[in-house]
Amino acid sequence: MKRVGVIGGGQLAWMMGDAAQKLGLELVVQTPSREDPAVAIAADTVLAKVDDATATAVLAGKCDIITFENEFVDLDALSILAHQGVCFRPSLEALIPLLDKYHQRCYLRDLGLPVPEFFAIEPQDKEKIASKLGFPLVLKSRRHGYDGQGTFIIKDFASLQPKLDYNITESAFLIEEFVPFERELAIIAARSVDGEVVTYPVVETQQEEQVCRRVIAPAKITPKQAAEIEAIAHTILNSLQVVGVFGIELFLTADGKVLVNEIAPRTHNSGHFSLDACETSQFEQHLRAVCGFTLGNPALRCAAAVMVNLLGYENSQSDYEQKRSHLLQIPQAHLHWYGKTESRLGRKLGHVTVLLDNQNQNEAMDVARSIESIWYPNIPIG
Ligand code: ADP
Repeated sequence: MKRVGVIGGGQLAWMMGDAAQKLGLELVVQTPSREDPAVAIAADTVLAKVDDATATAVLAGKCDIITFENEFVDLDALSILAHQGVCFRPSLEALIPLLDKYHQRCYLRDLGLPVPEFFAIEPQDKEKIASKLGFPLVLKSRRHGYDGQGTFIIKDFASLQPKLDYNITESAFLIEEFVPFERELAIIAARSVDGEVVTYPVVETQQEEQVCRRVIAPAKITPKQAAEIEAIAHTILNSLQVVGVFGIELFLTADGKVLVNEIAPRTHNSGHFSLDACETSQFEQHLRAVCGFTLGNPALRCAAAVMVNLLGYENSQSDYEQKRSHLLQIPQAHLHWYGKTESRLGRKLGHVTVLLDNQNQNEAMDVARSIESIWYPNIPIG
């Protein structure tokens, strides 16, 4: 039996559990707390932070290959392990251009892919910022940003100053033009050891305060736009020689232009619908790829699907049992509850995917609203 080491033990690793069982694999996770979701499904656990490479050496001793559910690792330290023969999939080389948002943007631009206008700036250069792009603009911490943490939409110079002062210890920022997008899109793509690439249907993602709230699959876009986005995914995964699943976030502008926002070098929230709505989930696909198996069929097995994140709206220890059983009464609803012991504001506690028998966007939004009216205390029942 193959043992797969997973750096990170959050919900993304937890959702690999069923697929691992199906494929006859064992997962060993490296994660800082026994309370983390994936500890419950792991054959073994190395209790350590994800950037603790000494712990990753211990993890390597327990498994055949190592993959990532969290990319905030210490690449320099891990490369020593790689030289000693530890097999990382995707490889560390595939992660190197991606972990710093500025380097990632440069990489995408150098591939000739469409990206928002951007530049790097040191805090002491702040006078130059406004003159380059004007307001509003978007300020992003170059490292360790996720779920909108470290991403700020800045309306004017007065709001820029405190952000830069507050973040002064972080060495640098990425500044980019604010894209008045019409919609946000995403695509999950997988690449095998043999270089085969498969893509999932392009989805629409809806963010509130920079955090993903809902995903509608498939997105309502033209076949030409879908083909363009699939081609972008192929270019990225092939040029990085990826083995595994990556998520790619994009903007669609009012005049139909596609821009790449960000690459997530792992399974991604925008692909959670695939657990219930696709022939092969992104989690199974990732394990298939990193274990050297042939890739599975990524196609939808229903007309459409809508996925809604269940985000914490209070600080509490509740398991929300009543709300969960209420959500399960929605026809064709699949609830995934990550088993976190504590709810905090904005924390991802679970998600619901509802399978739909048609691609009517209004219907998908109605379903999303009914889920949110059950989950959030302050949304009226629609
Ligand atoms: P994170 O890595 O934290 O997810 P992102 O770069 O994906 O950060 O940004 C989070 C969200 O912020 C995006 O989904 C989008 O809604 C908004 N956003 C990010 N960059 C821009 C931009 N240049 N213009 C407009 N909105 C943006």
